[in-house]
Amino acid sequence: MVNVLVVGGGPAGLAAAIALRRRGMAVTVMDGARPPIDKACGEGLLPSSTSSLRRLGVSIPEGMGFPLRGIRFFNNGAEATAEFPKGQAGLGIRRTALHSLLVEKAEEAGVLLQWGAPVSTLDLPFDWIVGADGINSSVRLKAGLEEPVFHRRRFGFRRHYRIQPWSPYVEVHWRNGFQIYVTPVGGEEVSIAILTRAAQIDFAAAIAPLDHRLNGARICSAERGAVTSLRRLRSIQNGNVILLGDASGSVDAITGEGLGCAFQQAQALADSLMLAGSGEHYRNAHRGLFRRPILLSRLLLALDAHPIVRAAAIRGLAAAPPLFGQLLRTLSG
Ligand SMILES: Cc1cc2nc3c(=O)[nH]c(=O)nc-3n(C[C@H](O)[C@H](O)[C@H](O)COP(=O)(O)OP(=O)(O)OC[C@H]3O[C@@H](n4cnc5c(N)ncnc54)[C@H](O)[C@@H]3O)c2cc1C
Repeated sequence: MVNVLVVGGGPAGLAAAIALRRRGMAVTVMDGARPPIDKACGEGLLPSSTSSLRRLGVSIPEGMGFPLRGIRFFNNGAEATAEFPKGQAGLGIRRTALHSLLVEKAEEAGVLLQWGAPVSTLDLPFDWIVGADGINSSVRLKAGLEEPVFHRRRFGFRRHYRIQPWSPYVEVHWRNGFQIYVTPVGGEEVSIAILTRAAQIDFAAAIAPLDHRLNGARICSAERGAVTSLRRLRSIQNGNVILLGDASGSVDAITGEGLGCAFQQAQALADSLMLAGSGEHYRNAHRGLFRRPILLSRLLLALDAHPIVRAAAIRGLAAAPPLFGQLLRTLSG
């Protein structure tokens, strides 16, 4: 039997473990942390991300999370809304709830899970080592795969507020130099993330435009921060070491695509290792899967950098909602 070690039991590592196991491989996951693992994240799943999860055999139970109808941009008094296609909802879901569900599905599939077990060497007796250890991957470094084609870094900060969501849309409030990204994640809970080029931010001051919505709501989680980056790597495989999820390159958090990309990569990796016994199919699929989210990242980062273009674009989209919807469907697959 093919023996695979997955380093990192975040969403990417667990999705890969489930897919590999379903293809009949023996899979061990090692993670330095213990579940449920939290992380600063906007916590929005696009319809394409939930369907990728379903293809892995993971359905999100009714009542978990909060169904999302689309995305709404706010900029200087203009408001543009894009609906998801009819019958396809997105989902806002607490990161810890998604992690617990993936852990449960991996256990059911027969994956061997080792928590509190950081990996510090790649000299291990496995046929394949999958580096799914996140944006600052040490597997990537140890395997000599650090060299990027391009790399642009920003920072994300996230809090939760105990309040009934005021909208079924993911709201993106554009400001000069940052975005406030609001995702309902439950009947009584809203996740707010700030994405910015600044390494530090006064959270309360930054979200002041939402004070009338939050209306003094209680903060119900510790503030978390994380790096987000638009990064493509020259190579994602060296010998029997192969990268997946944020470790294998990433798109800016503003796209809401990181999790969906990881779930699609997981399926492609399992197909590649099982059907061809090599990483070639995965490497090609990875390049293809990344193309559209990278384009979306570049477009949204251009709106971040150019306020005049942004104002004109969002005014234009506000005047033509079907166009914004079509654009969203094309760019988010
Ligand atoms: C602010 C922000 C908002 C975002 N919003 C969204 C969103 O709304 N929708 C979306 O789809 N994506 C979003 N993303 C992106 C998404 O969070 C990532 O793409 C996703 O978490 C990647 O999962 P991963 O498993 O690759 O990495 P991670 O979630 O970082 O998991 C890596 C795991 O590896 C483990 N690990 C690290 N080193 C080792 C080691 N040496 N040994 C063992 N284990 C190790 C860690 O403990 C961790 O559990 C956002 C990102 C940010 C920063």
